[in-house]
Amino acid sequence: MREQLDGVAVVTGAASGIGRATALLLAERGFHVVAVDINAQSLEALSAEAGERALTTLACDVAAPDTPARIAEAVDGLGKPWRVLINNAGIAASPALQETSDDDIDRFIGINVASVFRLCRTALPIMAEQGGGSVVNLASVFGLTGVSGTSIYALTKGAVAALTVQLACEWGRRGVRVNAVAPGLIDTPLTAARIRDGAWTQRRILEETPLGRAGTPQDVAETIAFLASPRSAFITGEVLKVDGGWLSG
Ligand code: NAD
Repeated sequence: MREQLDGVAVVTGAASGIGRATALLLAERGFHVVAVDINAQSLEALSAEAGERALTTLACDVAAPDTPARIAEAVDGLGKPWRVLINNAGIAASPALQETSDDDIDRFIGINVASVFRLCRTALPIMAEQGGGSVVNLASVFGLTGVSGTSIYALTKGAVAALTVQLACEWGRRGVRVNAVAPGLIDTPLTAARIRDGAWTQRRILEETPLGRAGTPQDVAETIAFLASPRSAFITGEVLKVDGGWLSG
């Protein structure tokens, strides 16, 4: 498998938290990063922070059907092979089962699952054609075990894990590896308020985490960067927990 650190890495949800740390790290490691997010203002801040590093921003909604074509066009315009895709954009504030509306179901599946499916459908043939590469999807420990009150979120993250394993089997012989990370509790803007307020689920996870703390965006970004790089050349179809041991505790 020919994976080079000088190609293009697309990171969705790159303007905050795990995606932001990942975009900056991959740019530092030599990729030209295409940073995709719905939040144009935060993308500008990311661009400023990236400084001299090669980073192009693209403001769009990953759930929009024309987004994969827009991303492919942006990658094509850079004149380098598409080596890495990080499907990170996601929403998490899951309502209780009986309070989940039809709109909530469509929104969660649209952003957390359908967008990943569509972007893989566009990207994988291009990556294979251009010599192979690596996809990393953001699953969650909440898709691997039961946590009360997270039903629609857990459904989407379980689906991402299933898609990861399936695509790894389908695309391995064409030179594309497909893995996922399943973070535990990570301190990002997504979870910060609930960690600070000592919400029940977050408090319980912190108490039960063998490493005794919440993860940082950097903890997850380092794992993603490993899976994106040739250092993990014989790993595909893996759903790697980055949870401080929570699920094993
Ligand atoms: P975050 O809220 O800090 O960042 C998510 C980013 O995605 C934001 O910049 C947001 O603007 C962007 N985004 C959301 N919807 C979008 C859309 N429709 N189109 C384009 N961009 C969109 O979240 P985070 O904590 O960094 O989470 C990143 C990923 O990690 C998510 O998929 C999340 O489910 C997963 N995850 C997070 C945790 C955690 O504890 N933080 C745990 C497990 C999994």
